[in-house]
Amino acid sequence: METARSFDAVVVGAGLGGLAAALALAGDGRRVALVEAHPEVGGKIAVARLAGREIDCGPSVLSMRPVFEELFSTAGLRLDEHVELQPLELLARHTWPGGARLDLFADEQRSTEAIAAFAGRGAVEGFRRFLRYAAQLLERLEAPFLRHDNDGLARLMTRVGPRGLVGLARVDFGRTMWRALGDFFRDPRLRQLFARYATYYGSSPFAAPATLNLIAAVEQRGVWTVRGGMIALARAIAAAFTDAGGVVLTGHRVAALESDGHRVSAVRLADGTRLGARHVVFNGDPSRIADGHLGAAIRGAVQPQHEPASSSAMTWSMLARPEGLELARHTVCFGDDAEEFDALFDRRELPRRPTVHLCAPDRGTARPSDVEPVFCLVNAPAGLPSDDTLQSVARAAMEATLGACGLRLTALGPTIAATPTDFAERFPGTQGALWGPATHGSTAAFRRQSCRTAVPNLWLVGGATHPGAGLPMVTLGGLWAARQIGAALGSPRS
Ligand SMILES: Cc1cc2nc3c(=O)[nH]c(=O)nc-3n(C[C@H](O)[C@H](O)[C@H](O)COP(=O)(O)OP(=O)(O)OC[C@H]3O[C@@H](n4cnc5c(N)ncnc54)[C@H](O)[C@@H]3O)c2cc1C
Repeated sequence: METARSFDAVVVGAGLGGLAAALALAGDGRRVALVEAHPEVGGKIAVARLAGREIDCGPSVLSMRPVFEELFSTAGLRLDEHVELQPLELLARHTWPGGARLDLFADEQRSTEAIAAFAGRGAVEGFRRFLRYAAQLLERLEAPFLRHDNDGLARLMTRVGPRGLVGLARVDFGRTMWRALGDFFRDPRLRQLFARYATYYGSSPFAAPATLNLIAAVEQRGVWTVRGGMIALARAIAAAFTDAGGVVLTGHRVAALESDGHRVSAVRLADGTRLGARHVVFNGDPSRIADGHLGAAIRGAVQPQHEPASSSAMTWSMLARPEGLELARHTVCFGDDAEEFDALFDRRELPRRPTVHLCAPDRGTARPSDVEPVFCLVNAPAGLPSDDTLQSVARAAMEATLGACGLRLTALGPTIAATPTDFAERFPGTQGALWGPATHGSTAAFRRQSCRTAVPNLWLVGGATHPGAGLPMVTLGGLWAARQIGAALGSPRS
């Protein structure tokens, strides 16, 4: 088979990790192709089309803004000239069965006042202490671990040096998130609220290390929405990549990575086209390589993982009339955590009393009308098979939680739903797990797949790879991979 073209790097997959690696490489003057199986870039950044509008049905908020500024700067660009970010002042409205309600804000003082009114002044000291603790976790891990490849605990300890070791010893990975939260919050509702952050990594707070409490600090540094939805960010990165000379091939599945015995030499598309590659960045699930789906020659590049899968989800996008509870842009209606996480990770069935996450994108921007777009998500186990009743059972459980929290949502027109099976089909090799492996157990983060593989010019980026899932994390992984490839290639050709 003839080689159509040759590139310094071919990036397989245009999820955010792939997009980030591609832009950083093209910005560095490299010849880069970005190949995506779906017709549109973005991966989990996806939209549902309702009544002529595009509504986010994947991520809806952006944190760690400097990471995205850094990404655009790799191509000599300014983030704010390509994407319009809007800071979120009201982070989320939280509601419990019986009608208790707590709003948390970007402004710590406002949150403190809200917590005092909700749980009494006694709860404020614990909240403040928790934020300081979470900020320290983030500070201790950001530079040496999150902004570096996962090269094992021993190397990390050498990297931080004697002073850093003291900090590292205090990153609280020896106990669970749930246990640690008990030191800060007596009110079970506050403990439940902050435990929810484990699900941002598709994990259970009863099994995740307390280190994941750093997510609260990430949020405290600021959260943004993107005008036009998160898809506008993915499209802006793809456009910047094309402007920098990159080639985007959407609607093309990569069927195999060809090897010359030592290195990947080319990428073969499903239609037989071959793209020569000096380096390859793979943004799909690493299991696709380990299980031989991309060719027997490179299967040994990645060790098979035996970690439990993170959670999947059931989602619904609809135009709806909300009644009974004033929705915020992000609203959480709490169910029963013990039942939910047992169902997700032990019984591996749909939670009967799930927590529901709602996103109403018109809130906070336009005056909400009577009928508005609403995205609803409940967590579901990865690998859960779809049968005739799954949709109706899950929806009834979701509506029961909403009802208990005082919200009635009447859908007007069609609802676009997604099940774990749909996610498994969209993201092969994942069983529908949306966040890579679950972060369960004290050393889970160190066992996460490294960006490097055993094949020197094959690199991994994305939510199943260090530093894990979430828009800033996969972007950090993409930036790191691009830097390593740049160093390996040497000075760009003019
Ligand atoms: C419902 C939901 C809500 C979320 N909310 C947030 C949020 O508010 N904030 C946040 O920060 N994060 C959030 N996340 C997490 C975040 O969306 C993901 O961690 C991130 O987008 C994943 O990026 P990725 O690089 O892993 O690529 P993915 O999005 O997994 O994309 C991988 C891409 O690779 C392509 N691909 C794979 N194999 C091949 C092949 N052989 N050939 C060609 N293409 C291939 C796939 O088609 C896919 O497009 C959310 C996720 C979900 C699902």
